[in-house]
Amino acid sequence: MTVTRWLAEYAWLPGRDEPTPDVLIEADEGLFTAVTPLLGGGPVAGVEVHPDAVRLPGVTLPGLANAHSHAFHRALRGRTHGGRGDFWTWREQMYAVAERLDPESYLALARATYAEMALAGITAVGEFHYLHHGPGGARYDDPNAMGAALVEAATQAGIRLTLLDTCYLSATVDGAPLTGPQLRFGDGDAQRWAERVSAFTPSPPPGSQAEGADPRVRVGAAVHSVRAVPADQLATVAEWAARHTAPLHVHLSEQPAENDACRAVHGRTPARLLADHGVLGPHTTAVHATHPTSADLNLLAGTDSGVCLCPTTERDLADGIGPAHRMADLGIPLSLGSDSHAVVDPFEEARAVELDERLRTRRRGHFTPAALLEAAGVTGHTALGWGDAGRIAVGARADLVTVRRDGARTAGVPPVGVFFAATAADVTQVVVDGRQVVADGRHLLVDVPVELRAAIEQVTR
Ligand SMILES: [Zn+2]
Repeated sequence: MTVTRWLAEYAWLPGRDEPTPDVLIEADEGLFTAVTPLLGGGPVAGVEVHPDAVRLPGVTLPGLANAHSHAFHRALRGRTHGGRGDFWTWREQMYAVAERLDPESYLALARATYAEMALAGITAVGEFHYLHHGPGGARYDDPNAMGAALVEAATQAGIRLTLLDTCYLSATVDGAPLTGPQLRFGDGDAQRWAERVSAFTPSPPPGSQAEGADPRVRVGAAVHSVRAVPADQLATVAEWAARHTAPLHVHLSEQPAENDACRAVHGRTPARLLADHGVLGPHTTAVHATHPTSADLNLLAGTDSGVCLCPTTERDLADGIGPAHRMADLGIPLSLGSDSHAVVDPFEEARAVELDERLRTRRRGHFTPAALLEAAGVTGHTALGWGDAGRIAVGARADLVTVRRDGARTAGVPPVGVFFAATAADVTQVVVDGRQVVADGRHLLVDVPVELRAAIEQVTR
């Protein structure tokens, strides 16, 4: 028993509208064992009572989840903003980076990207992974070599990973074959996808997992989109996920063009098509859902599917604004993802959900700060299969994210205001599964700027 104790100046506890002052938090073997508000004793008094407690000045949040990531897109940040264009022209640039990656360079890029996430307060990432094979679609000796590189990257960066292994088979809704860089994404058909994924059983290296907690890596499934998985292949992916009680994610209605093509080919919307083939359900997360119909929203709600919003990417790619408030009203669980990593900042991602709604409606007050925290914390973790994380509560995984209140952006801000004032740069301490990963705003395992620069130079020069 090596109990770790922290004394949080403020901690945001489950079910509370705002952070609670003076909370003693204890953990053992990667799980919280006691969470005790000291009821006005004050941090100084608390330290006297518990001299071994690590003080956490500022506001301490539960671990935040990044429910939608494509790690290699990080290499595109700042390189695609000069010209005109839209999602489709951006995609050409993204493919150019994809063409250059191999397991070694992907490990370096993903390790630095995941470490950037840790610095931002992200304790678990859902990697929507479709860059499976070598140039031209040639299989690596280990056909899961790219997935293994991502697992290793997350382990080295100190955060949990759900590898959402993505089925990607066709180039268009009407089934055109993959060409060029897309050949690296394809397994041929869903059955061969399932066989490859079933053979992938990553085990974290010895000593890398918190004792007492589950491993830090999960494998889930993803349907890239109705564009990339033909209708007659969808059920195979859904059945694999159901058989493994694995999270199942799918890009949904990010672009009006996808909706139009799906209607033209299948006579129904993408959401309807997914529902008809068993893809929607309580373990399913639809990513984006920027352009759903009212019937689509009812389908998502009626099947208990979740939605992962990616507001900073959706704004960067000129996708549009998803109907977040209508989704919340229907009881659809909302999570958040940084997707293309134009920005990696869970605070910016969370407040964008509210602020975008304000722009659309010209009214304020659609989401409370506690609702934004729920999306970034417990709902995001649940969407990735970590139902035991995202809450500072006894029995939950011991993740803590501390935001300073003595910086230029947060000075004078009430504790409840962190989601509207702080940025990723205000995160000072991060604990994942009881292990400290970030201290005083520095990653303890990775020199993030140096490694990011080197890894990106390698795939963009
Ligand atoms: Zn995506």
